[in-house]
Amino acid sequence: MGTTRSFRFRNYEIRPDTTAETTYAAECVTGDEADCGAQSGEEIDPRQVDRWIAEHVRDTTHGRFRRTTTTYAVAEPGDWQ
Ligand SMILES: [Zn+2]
Repeated sequence: MGTTRSFRFRNYEIRPDTTAETTYAAECVTGDEADCGAQSGEEIDPRQVDRWIAEHVRDTTHGRFRRTTTTYAVAEPGDWQ
């Protein structure tokens, strides 16, 4: 049944992009039916994100956050498999 296809996949070398800085961010996910949604914005220094969280807790008593770290990668074509 159906048709048979074959694909050739190329190998890629994937490595960290050292020319781009890692960034950090936080979002407030406190809330029962809907998250608060307040966002810290992207920061180069993770301590700035912690500071934003501390200020948000102080102002709102919200206590649950989603933190993200963003890194960049570069992929370079390698051999065909
Ligand atoms: Zn909040």
